[in-house]
Amino acid sequence: MASKFYSKIETMPRDELRKFQEKKVLEMVRHAYEKSPYYHRKFDQAGIKPADIKSLDDFCKKVPFTSKHELVTSQREQPPYGEFLAVPKEKLRLVFISPGPIFEPYTQEDVMTTRKNMAKGIITGGAGEGDIIQITLSYHFMPAGLFAHIAAEEAGLTIIPAGTGETRMQIDFMKKLGTTIYAGTPSFLARLAEEAQKMGVDPKKDLKLKIGICGAEPLPPDLRKKLQDTFDMELFDAYGVAELGVMTRECEYHNGMHVNEELYFLEIIDPNTLERVEPGEEGEIVATPFDREALPLIRYRTGDASVLTEEVCKCGRTEARILGIRGRVDMLTKVKGVFIHPKQAQDVVKQYPELGRLQIIVERPGDYDEMTVVVEGKDPSKFSQWESKLKEEFKQALRIKSNVKMVKEGDIPPDARYLEDRRKHYAK
Ligand SMILES: [Zn+2]
Repeated sequence: MASKFYSKIETMPRDELRKFQEKKVLEMVRHAYEKSPYYHRKFDQAGIKPADIKSLDDFCKKVPFTSKHELVTSQREQPPYGEFLAVPKEKLRLVFISPGPIFEPYTQEDVMTTRKNMAKGIITGGAGEGDIIQITLSYHFMPAGLFAHIAAEEAGLTIIPAGTGETRMQIDFMKKLGTTIYAGTPSFLARLAEEAQKMGVDPKKDLKLKIGICGAEPLPPDLRKKLQDTFDMELFDAYGVAELGVMTRECEYHNGMHVNEELYFLEIIDPNTLERVEPGEEGEIVATPFDREALPLIRYRTGDASVLTEEVCKCGRTEARILGIRGRVDMLTKVKGVFIHPKQAQDVVKQYPELGRLQIIVERPGDYDEMTVVVEGKDPSKFSQWESKLKEEFKQALRIKSNVKMVKEGDIPPDARYLEDRRKHYAK
């Protein structure tokens, strides 16, 4: 289903879009420096003033990153909001609490910005007036439920503020009210499918769901297909971080997620060298949200890994896309110049019941990286067979050669790190 465009930014030529983003980024640098004591000190320590940052290039070269740890520490030391806070407390209208805990304060302007930002996601999915949305995200403490709610208001939908849980009631009201849009996690949608079955409700015939806006957890392809088939609906993935908001959403082509570049400047960096990588290369997502009054965040490291592409999408949007979330960066590392996802090795091992746990060890004994996958097995007499078999399969899965060492069950210590990087130069 073709969706409507919400703003002219979505299809703007990329050089114009860059100009727009540059202006917004420079505004944020100035706002953070002038209004947030934390950033004032941080920039002073880095020896930069807003006047030194004249372009996006300057920004990416000179401005330091912000980590979640800094935000948590600052709030702990100067409760509740820490020195990041860039407005007087009486200007705050909403506060969310995310695990950490992190307090996320919003001014009225911030709320309105978020409302528009998230409405864009709903509209990109093809929803609009006449649709009935059932929001099954949490309305308690966390931002997801309430923000999806106000975004649906902005997009002109009829809202059922369902919240989490209550599967039976969710199905019952879906049926009685004719819900067309589901907003929530993929796993909860799977639970609703099970509950519907128990209740004798046919998800295809008795329910009118046509679109599902999913978020807050990964949406793997097999689960997506299963849910789409069960409900006869189209699912749209979105990616966000509590402190930053929902930054990307899918269009009807489902080929990655468009970055909302009207509101975020996204960079992908090599988590080891902290250098920006080229489009198409994998690395850590770093985001700078625009128009943030209360809690400016500059070059905020998400810890999530992805790839960015700037190729124009078939939908006509010029906004860049991220090609899936490929895990947490602390779970991946570069070996011989290639990112290693331990999960891919895990997927290989999981196919064989006679194999157990595994550990990946990365070393640099001489000038070159060496990777050894240690795998637990049940039958020592077959270890050498397994070693050659797995060597081949890991090469396919991980795209680089590795050594394989089979060990007896229980030989990998229970507290062993899944991925152990013993190379000195990558000390964190
Ligand atoms: Zn698109």
